[in-house]
Amino acid sequence: MLIVKKFGGTSVADKERIFNVAKRCIEDYNKGNDVVVVLSAMGKSTDDLLAMAADINPDMPKREVDMLLATGEQTSVALMSMAMRALGVPAISLNAFQVAMHSTSTYGNAKFKRIDTDRIQHEIDNRRIVIVTGFQGINKYDDITTLGRGGSDTTAVALAAALHADACEIYTDVEGVFTADPRKVPNAKKLPEITYDEMLEMATLGAQVLHNRSVELAKKYGVQLVVRSSLTTAEGTVVKEVTKMESMVVNGIATDKNTARIAVIGLQNTPGVAFKVFNILGKKNINVDVILQSIGRDNTKDISFTVSEEQADEAMEILEENKKALTADHIECDKNVAKVSVIGAGMQTNAGVASKMFEALYNAGINIRMISTSEIRITVLVDEDCADRATKAAHDMFIED
Ligand code: ASP
Ligand code: MG
Repeated sequence: MLIVKKFGGTSVADKERIFNVAKRCIEDYNKGNDVVVVLSAMGKSTDDLLAMAADINPDMPKREVDMLLATGEQTSVALMSMAMRALGVPAISLNAFQVAMHSTSTYGNAKFKRIDTDRIQHEIDNRRIVIVTGFQGINKYDDITTLGRGGSDTTAVALAAALHADACEIYTDVEGVFTADPRKVPNAKKLPEITYDEMLEMATLGAQVLHNRSVELAKKYGVQLVVRSSLTTAEGTVVKEVTKMESMVVNGIATDKNTARIAVIGLQNTPGVAFKVFNILGKKNINVDVILQSIGRDNTKDISFTVSEEQADEAMEILEENKKALTADHIECDKNVAKVSVIGAGMQTNAGVASKMFEALYNAGINIRMISTSEIRITVLVDEDCADRATKAAHDMFIED
């Protein structure tokens, strides 16, 4: 069996944990399996490197930032290989260049295009444990790129797909995917399994367990994932196409406080206005989420939408610059909002989920600012200081004890 195992930063944060991971990998290896390990940078080292970069040059030249960040993963793979060798097992670390993990050119947000498997296969054939840097690729200029924060999950899935691995295990500091953030909702439960689509919504909407692009990729290539803890032996959560849990209408509640609401007020009520607003934002690669249009006074209209907090200032700047052309009266931004979403594949075939969600929030005295839905999700925008209460209220309403 060929197993790809990915370990996050907390799982390799110090010497003791590195040896813990090494031993877990060696266990599989000793059973006769082929083992490919993908690692994140140790502990908070990516944050530390970013802080150093910002201190030296606040402009943060993107190519150099990627060059710098990639060293974090290179450190952890080299140390892991040394740990395994100290335990008497042949291991070899490889970076994105040595494997040849080809990506698009965009620094800081590159996507994999192609992964060569020859080198890894050669090492596996020689019965080595192969330890690969997560989070990085190389582009057509032979420069190092990175995949965006949390991107090591995506490296693991991409490698599992390219190598036709029999299993892809994502080890983290929680025991799996929970019905809500267990730090906020104490009676949150671990899910035995979840569909790709549900996981994708959860990952995109604020559940921190998996990089959302890793889930997209897993779905595309049919890579079944297991999310589990590196610190315990508890069984994790399986992420796959179809699950058995038909009876669960809602499988999880995701909360995203990293959200800002922007309102463009007093627009002319004529065709093409919405197009202009979102076209301007799209050209700047600003990701817009929940959208609401309402008719204002004097037959004008207001358009509000959410963006991530990091992109809020840039969005405001570009909208202000174009205020006249857009026929806007004024533009507002509120960062004190949060998205709370209930997610479940069973929603497609069960009526009344929306009304139950609104009832839960009403009972908790929480005001809804905006609403958006998909086939398997209902998202509400609430004031940020209500977010945890809203999450709990929704959890109490939908998830049985
Ligand atoms: N080390 C990178 C980060 O902190 C990638 C990862 O951990 O997946 O974002
Ligand atoms: Mg992560």
